[in-house]
Amino acid sequence: MADRYLSFTGTAPGRFLTRRLGLPQPAELRRDALDGGLLHLTAGKSDLDLAPVLARTGLPRDEDGRPAAVVLDATGVRDVDALAEVHAALHPVVRSVAASGRVVVLGAPLDPADHHQAAVQQALEGFTRSLGKEIGRGRTVNLVRLTDAAPAESTLRFLLSPASAYVSGQVIEVGTAAADGTGDGTGTADAAPDDWTLPLAGRTALVTGAARGIGAAVAETLAGQGAQVVVLDVPEAQDAARRAAERLGGTALALDITAADAGERIAAALPGGLDILIHNAGVTRDRRLVNMPAERWSSVLDVNLASVLRTTDALLAAGAVNRGGRIVATASIAGLAGNAGQTNYGASKAGIVGLVRSLAPRALAEHGVTVNAVAPGFIETKMTAAVPLFIREAGRRMNSLAQGGLPVDVAETTAWLAHPASGAVNGQVVRVCGQSLLGA
Ligand code: NAD
Repeated sequence: MADRYLSFTGTAPGRFLTRRLGLPQPAELRRDALDGGLLHLTAGKSDLDLAPVLARTGLPRDEDGRPAAVVLDATGVRDVDALAEVHAALHPVVRSVAASGRVVVLGAPLDPADHHQAAVQQALEGFTRSLGKEIGRGRTVNLVRLTDAAPAESTLRFLLSPASAYVSGQVIEVGTAAADGTGDGTGTADAAPDDWTLPLAGRTALVTGAARGIGAAVAETLAGQGAQVVVLDVPEAQDAARRAAERLGGTALALDITAADAGERIAAALPGGLDILIHNAGVTRDRRLVNMPAERWSSVLDVNLASVLRTTDALLAAGAVNRGGRIVATASIAGLAGNAGQTNYGASKAGIVGLVRSLAPRALAEHGVTVNAVAPGFIETKMTAAVPLFIREAGRRMNSLAQGGLPVDVAETTAWLAHPASGAVNGQVVRVCGQSLLGA
């Protein structure tokens, strides 16, 4: 499972050889801390008061011209002349951004009454994605579109931290959050936790398929941030589920999520309700459509999509997801781009995207619950270790960071979406794929 190529390109001969041969040159991603200060730039005339939020990230101000984080406030860019200020601001600094550094561009919603503003704000997407593809050295570039004057603290903290190491080339929309974190548009403040290091203290989180792989990493990350976790997995995986739950001070729940009454059984097991519901359980049964029996189709659709729809409906209807709650479902870049041999899987994961986009506004209005999805790319797990060598290598390298992600990268992204201060992030599908070329 280890990425030997990545280790090799970290050595001097490896660097020499891969450069000479024109091969990908992945940089070891920093997942511990960013190495440098923060640079705050502005293009156009902005009304945003970012300074207090940026100060609270704890990143020192960049003093030596080698920033690890660059925030470009482009919310006030309304015409092509102002767009030139984006070039003017970043052109001189982009070379000096530290390895594994972050560039975050802040944009505004497209104004339907002003096609010049809409053109240049949309231009920021193409700009961000292009810079992400060329910047290299483990550096990431993302665009946050602020639909409200609030500066989206939890999102900025996430994107300016090592937690977002494998998130690049994304466009994330952040709306208006209520003071209670429900994000129902009645206020402007995020519900800032008392303790940013333990933001999930007092919250109950249920993670499906958490006995191993990405789900286990999600359970561990949420528990590490203070949540009381319930590790749900099929009865056959109960040994691993119990061990994980014990380690995390949580509980295990033996349940096949495809059971017709799964939602009711979860609600019965959690009389105090749920604050965080993570739909992670998923299966693949690959085969080209011409060779795919109905059973392979239905088993994948049932686990990956139908059970997510069914349990979400049952839990919301029972009032089992508390106000301020968070639902995060797991899509996949295969659902966005399509993948040969995965018509069943691709359909199921695209279905998750549709579910999220449709349910998010209603779940927020009716239940005070946000609904988002993570869409992992190539993540180093047992699932991907089983992929034949050449396909595996292609999957690993065909992204801007030229390497696979780790389960913790998906877990950290999930934790940001589950954050009490992320009430204004709703209906988003965030790829954790190192800006994969698939579906880009
Ligand atoms: P995995 O196979 O290692 O783990 C999946 C877990 O889900 C297992 O513990 C399994 O027992 C459990 N599970 C399966 N069916 C279940 C059911 N009916 N009820 C309850 N639990 C069930 O997979 P993973 O690689 O950790 O993937 C986790 C999620 O991420 C899946 O939804 C997968 O589709 C998605 N994903 C993974 C990758 C990747 O590269 N690994 C990429 C994109 C998306």
